[in-house]
Amino acid sequence: MKRYNDIVVGSGISGLTLTLLLAMNGRKVLLLEKAPHIGGSLIRFYKEGVPLDTGFHFTGGFSSGGILADMLYVLGISDSVQPIFLPNSEANRFVFEQDGAVYDMPFGIDNCCAALCKYFPDESAAINEYFARVKKVYQSTVTFDLRKLSLSVEPIEEDYISLEQLLSSLTANANLKGLLSACCLCFGVPPKEVSFANYARVAVGLYESVARIKNGGEAFIRAFRERFAQFDVDILCNASITECTDVSNDIVGEFVLDNGDVMRADNCIFTIHPQEVLKILPREHLSKAFVDRVSSFENSNGFFSCFGVVKNADPLAFGPSIVSLLPCADLNTLLDPRYAGRAALGVMRSAEEAGDKTHCVITAFEPEFFSNIQQWADSSVGMRPAAYTEYKKRKTEEIARRVGNLYPQYREGFSVLDAASLLTFRDYLFSPEGNAYGIKQKMGQFNLFGKLPLVNLYVAGQSAVLPGVVGSMLSSFIVARSLIGKDKCNYFIEGRLSR
Ligand SMILES: Cc1cc2nc3c(=O)[nH]c(=O)nc-3n(C[C@H](O)[C@H](O)[C@H](O)COP(=O)(O)OP(=O)(O)OC[C@H]3O[C@@H](n4cnc5c(N)ncnc54)[C@H](O)[C@@H]3O)c2cc1C
Repeated sequence: MKRYNDIVVGSGISGLTLTLLLAMNGRKVLLLEKAPHIGGSLIRFYKEGVPLDTGFHFTGGFSSGGILADMLYVLGISDSVQPIFLPNSEANRFVFEQDGAVYDMPFGIDNCCAALCKYFPDESAAINEYFARVKKVYQSTVTFDLRKLSLSVEPIEEDYISLEQLLSSLTANANLKGLLSACCLCFGVPPKEVSFANYARVAVGLYESVARIKNGGEAFIRAFRERFAQFDVDILCNASITECTDVSNDIVGEFVLDNGDVMRADNCIFTIHPQEVLKILPREHLSKAFVDRVSSFENSNGFFSCFGVVKNADPLAFGPSIVSLLPCADLNTLLDPRYAGRAALGVMRSAEEAGDKTHCVITAFEPEFFSNIQQWADSSVGMRPAAYTEYKKRKTEEIARRVGNLYPQYREGFSVLDAASLLTFRDYLFSPEGNAYGIKQKMGQFNLFGKLPLVNLYVAGQSAVLPGVVGSMLSSFIVARSLIGKDKCNYFIEGRLSR
């Protein structure tokens, strides 16, 4: 029977980060992944030789002193994960389709504030107050400093105000409210349900800068693989834990895998969906309150995604950009599963290298809700019914039409290479209901994070602290600190950052 210090379950960015941090601190780690490959949502796939990204298109946190840049530096992979910044405000465009208003948002929080004051001169007081509150949240969030990570963070006033409440107290201007809540699309929670503090924690990184990564999520996966080879890391794919056994004094002694193998480990850390964790934990050791809490978490929305390429476009004139098409200004409406109108659409443009070719790639994604495809939930890849195929075709054609209207110059050369529904995401990424961000992180909710009721079991991942790649990595840094020990971890991080 094999013995490890730590077993990490799930090999998305959370599991990769945690595994490397633990291994760099001298621990023997087993990384378990249910899919045939490591990487989770970071995975890149290829159609007709064109590289396409599954669940990672852009990120904040890369500007100087940014949390992502720091985390990559600590992990020793900053040379391999290179940002390609969105170059200017035109590359970060918001289009309100209802009235045709177009807003180009520059980068840098003060620049955003100034640009909005220009767009909405009568609303300067509201805009200044909003950004002052965003800065306050940022400065009060100790976990944005890797030297001050902690599992227990004191809440601040803004944790108890919803984004909707804050915006309504500042302005009645619908487009301004829409722009100031647009990052809800990168959170999966509508303004009336998300706390202003958590919203600001995600938005602040995106206000400062937005970058794509050269070679997408594949750059991360490659970099982690290279680092793992230098430490004591075993990786098992097509594997998951079915049972935790040999429990004594609330400590799990053995972990039974689905192939029947049994592993021993001092700790096991889950970076998968909280309700998937619940299925693995020994029920007799859990309180009803715990089970009820975890069972009540709702999933975030997912995205219906279209992956396309523009033939005959000039890659040099195909710099990275994101256009957010918003059919109405109210994000509560656009993120309501009952909303039957036209969906929001994010259109990401980028030039991607593969071998000696550079491809002009357009990925478009619209929020989608599981309730809309529930009727086909029992089907699996390659065995979907005709009605589902028709749904996918209809959606794809509609998105291609919107992309064509946005970029008439590309209409001729644009072709859709692939499309993915929530069922596709669910079945390839093992994400319940094909959610994009794990559970909806609502105001006042007590997420599953850190220690579980069994003392040597822990949880990290996108549902724990904040969603997205940055939030997922941060959760792993915080849990790693708990496992490694505060002083040793601080010494390690300080040592890495001061190099
Ligand atoms: C379409 C889409 C677009 C997105 N765009 C962006 C973006 O542009 N920027 C951004 O920052 N974020 C984006 N996100 C969100 C981002 O991808 C996630 O927040 C983040 O990658 C989550 O990382 P994770 O490691 O927590 O989870 P995941 O990447 O989901 O990894 C979990 C892993 O666990 C494995 N697993 C599941 N169950 C088990 C089990 N029982 N045993 C073993 N392994 C298991 C899965 O196979 C998977 O590999 C997007 C998501 C989607 C779906």
